[in-house]
Amino acid sequence: MSDVEILRCDVAVIGGGIAGMVTATRAAQGGAHVLVFERSAEDRYLCNSRLTAGIFHCALNSVTTPPAELARYINDATGGTAEPAQANAVASDALRAVRWLQEQGLRFVRGAQAYHDFTLAPPTVNPQNRGWEGRGGDVLLRTLETALAKTGGHVMRGMSAKKLRMDDSRCTGVYGENAAGGRFCVEAAATVVADGGFQTSSSLLAEAITPDPDKVFQRNARTGFGDGLRMAREAGAALTELRGFYGHILSADAFSNEKLWPHLWLDFVAAAGVLVDRSGQRFTNEGDGGVSMANAIAAQPDPLGTFAIADQKIWDERGTINMQAPNPRLREYGGTVHVADSLSALAKLAGINEEALKNSVARYNEAVLSGRPETLSPPRSTSKFEAYRIDTAPYYALPACAGVTYTMGGILIDDQARVLDKQRQPIAGLYAAGATTGGLEGGPVGSAVGYVGGLIKSSVMGLRAADDINKVRSGMMDRVAP
Ligand SMILES: Cc1cc2nc3c(=O)[nH]c(=O)nc-3n(C[C@H](O)[C@H](O)[C@H](O)COP(=O)(O)OP(=O)(O)OC[C@H]3O[C@@H](n4cnc5c(N)ncnc54)[C@H](O)[C@@H]3O)c2cc1C
Repeated sequence: MSDVEILRCDVAVIGGGIAGMVTATRAAQGGAHVLVFERSAEDRYLCNSRLTAGIFHCALNSVTTPPAELARYINDATGGTAEPAQANAVASDALRAVRWLQEQGLRFVRGAQAYHDFTLAPPTVNPQNRGWEGRGGDVLLRTLETALAKTGGHVMRGMSAKKLRMDDSRCTGVYGENAAGGRFCVEAAATVVADGGFQTSSSLLAEAITPDPDKVFQRNARTGFGDGLRMAREAGAALTELRGFYGHILSADAFSNEKLWPHLWLDFVAAAGVLVDRSGQRFTNEGDGGVSMANAIAAQPDPLGTFAIADQKIWDERGTINMQAPNPRLREYGGTVHVADSLSALAKLAGINEEALKNSVARYNEAVLSGRPETLSPPRSTSKFEAYRIDTAPYYALPACAGVTYTMGGILIDDQARVLDKQRQPIAGLYAAGATTGGLEGGPVGSAVGYVGGLIKSSVMGLRAADDINKVRSGMMDRVAP
């Protein structure tokens, strides 16, 4: 073991995104010596927390909503599949998490919609489409790192966690590798996995989300490799349903055009009209909204063969909402917008089966006109998004793709962010928080994909992990006190 660097601390945190940094700062402020191990060697290392739009919401509701109502919204969003302990924890502490961040000096502004009332300042999404430097997520991570440093804690960059250190069934730290290939071993009373999900892992994506990982777009920082999930699984942790991701429908041109992601979505256009594959068939309930449709696109045999179909009315009304609306930006930024005076011409232009497209649109229009779109196959609901008829020329076909932001399934935790084993018992010394965890956002049952909010999930569970760690530490100190 002579060539292995040995490090000791009270709390070892794996990953320096919001989940890791909230846990680290809170635990350190409670008196623990905390080290954060971050895979990237960069000073301003990229992660989803730096790219984030910064909206703290809970299932698309303001965090100021009474907790009992928030719990109900989480339940509704996830079709009743959220782990009740996590759902109640997030509903109870959503406002507390935001207040705690304010106490650390972070500022929030109001965004465009009612549930955007706590948006990290300065906002990342803006009409100029500026980058992330100096904006919400970047400011958050730098602020928390400064607070951590005041306690003697430290973010150790270029340090990749590889394997949890287990002593029988207790986690006692982590093994890893530094950027120069040297090995390290951390001995810690508590270890927190916060490595941000598995969206960048082709093999895990293929296992759970899409037949063709190369054809889903990485609408993220490309830093979520699923290391934490694999390490926790190896240490005996239970995993939740891994299907389901938070994401949006993007232009298929996002693969070759940087301007078309992350904030230029096609969600509202697709949710007003129909989404078809190359054979001209609908394949999902557009009324479930963008996150659900993005999941359905990813699950298609050809995830790069789908199109949002609209008419001029949809393009003018639903194409123009959102800060980075596709009308007019998609064309301005060089993205493909097929436009034609008839559906036949549109089909030819886009390479969609002509007869099938005309039939799909005709059946859909009839169902909308008769007020019974739920009788379509697949059904079309209208409780969240109005179904517009597609009958005002010219017609639009937008080549679409699934933009994966973060995976929703992962390591099963309880309401204190303690990692649970297959018997649902906590694994001593092991915690997890943020996008690496599963359970809060359920799993898709039918068409329900339960987006609750990556930031609220990460910050609430980060705080709770730290509080439990500090409680256990003070209990141990009480026991050794004379
Ligand atoms: C474009 C975009 C917009 C978004 N907008 C919103 C929004 O408005 N509201 C909202 O609620 N959510 C939003 N999200 C989601 C939200 O930002 C994330 O869910 C959240 O930031 C996840 O935080 P995290 O700490 O779990 O992961 P991350 O921020 O991804 O951090 C994980 C860190 O772990 C590191 N790491 C990975 N593997 C290892 C390893 N083996 N060893 C050590 N370190 C490792 C990574 O390098 C990374 O720095 C958005 C995300 C994106 C990409």
